[in-house]
Amino acid sequence: MNITVSRRRKKPIGESYPCGSFILYNVEPALVLVFGCGGERITYHRDSLTIPAKRQFLLEFDDGTYLSITVQGWGSAQLVESGKLPSHPHVDTGTISLVNEEFTYESFDRLFADMAPKELKVSVRQFITSKPGSWGLGNGYLQDILFQARIHPQRKLRDLNDDDKHRLYHGIRGVVKQAVACGGRDTELDLYGQPGRYRCIMDRRSVGTPCPSCGTSIEKISFQGGTCYFCPACQR
Ligand SMILES: [Zn+2]
Repeated sequence: MNITVSRRRKKPIGESYPCGSFILYNVEPALVLVFGCGGERITYHRDSLTIPAKRQFLLEFDDGTYLSITVQGWGSAQLVESGKLPSHPHVDTGTISLVNEEFTYESFDRLFADMAPKELKVSVRQFITSKPGSWGLGNGYLQDILFQARIHPQRKLRDLNDDDKHRLYHGIRGVVKQAVACGGRDTELDLYGQPGRYRCIMDRRSVGTPCPSCGTSIEKISFQGGTCYFCPACQR
């Protein structure tokens, strides 16, 4: 498939792959299209009539189909020379992907060992969503990860013992694996406009309902600019 990069030159699109919170598309022979994913919606269109009037980015393929990006909040789309990708200010090509086998407990534990003492003062929530932020984990999946790990969102990183860290690692691994298998959350749409099948255990719909593990009513708090949903009995 070709995309029109300039009016004169057409470039074939190669493989696409995740890199933390970014999606990269190889544009042959030596370019990379970099999409930064925050609150953006990326949609593939077989019919030009479905292209949203309000959009920030549009790619036209030579088979008459399109890719549009609509940003809600923040997002970015850049065309970068492949050779300059390693020095990109935001894309960390050395990021360990949470979806493959190189994300081991040892690699997770090393993150703690590499941190300065003052960095360990941050909350677990902040650590997961912003410290190794290039992972691409946001507030949405964080809630279920902390529930599975039985960790309160306000716990400080320095207070985690080895058991907590093991549960946190397995929480991340389990939730990410299941989310990928389900095609994302049921509140989000995929490239073809279809909702995912991952139903969060802990989200705004679960406030006041019984915890699936112990029956205690699920609570919500505002914390560090986001809303957290948790079981006050299971998560400490
Ligand atoms: Zn509970």
